[in-house]
Amino acid sequence: MAEIFSRFTFPDYVYHGTVREYLNGYKDKLINKENLQHSFNKDFGTGLYTTIDFQQAADWARKLSNDLALSDNFFGDDTPLVIVIKVEPDNYDGVVDVMDFRGESSAWSNFILKHRFKSSLDFDPCGDIHPQVVSGSMADNDTGEVIKTFRTNGYRIDFVHDQLWFQNQIVYKQKHKRVLAGLELGDQIAFFDERLNDMLKLVGYCTGNDDNNTNNLEDTYWKGWMYHVYNGKSESVR
Ligand SMILES: [Zn+2]
Repeated sequence: MAEIFSRFTFPDYVYHGTVREYLNGYKDKLINKENLQHSFNKDFGTGLYTTIDFQQAADWARKLSNDLALSDNFFGDDTPLVIVIKVEPDNYDGVVDVMDFRGESSAWSNFILKHRFKSSLDFDPCGDIHPQVVSGSMADNDTGEVIKTFRTNGYRIDFVHDQLWFQNQIVYKQKHKRVLAGLELGDQIAFFDERLNDMLKLVGYCTGNDDNNTNNLEDTYWKGWMYHVYNGKSESVR
């Protein structure tokens, strides 16, 4: 069996999609277990999810904003917002345990299956060996529905046949037609250990476009989004 030693370099910047209501919480602490108490059954477990693709983070922000707007028990500011995080590994003193999934594999889909099936702050299917960082493709957006069917059918996460069924579901969008090749799935990097806050720095955030800001659109860092520079104390719009 191959023993693999690999060196992993972090991207300089990662993005996290959220809404304005939660911005102050992220200014305090990016990976914050207290704020993750209501986070259940995510692809890679309960943690801070980021991506190297700004547009993907923007999609997450818009989706969360839409969901909260329809929610009966959210009364905060649901303006879509993308947090810009600088990754500074030099500022963390210690070994970082990274699980890096390249492309599609049964290891990847089984890892997602067991965390989507049951994981939370209080329970992780890996026990106490969950990695500090997990990077890899996202499952298709309909994974929530796929898991529902998985449960309804009484499938088991430790049966190979049921695992294969799940893997096919998350990479095939339509029956018999493969529309999600590896790169189309999108990429995410999730952080799970609060100690890693030492290497993550919130350096800015982008707010979604609204009609009042049309004059600023030409100057935005990313078209349609207004970029706010944040240095830990003051903020300025660029
Ligand atoms: Zn785990």
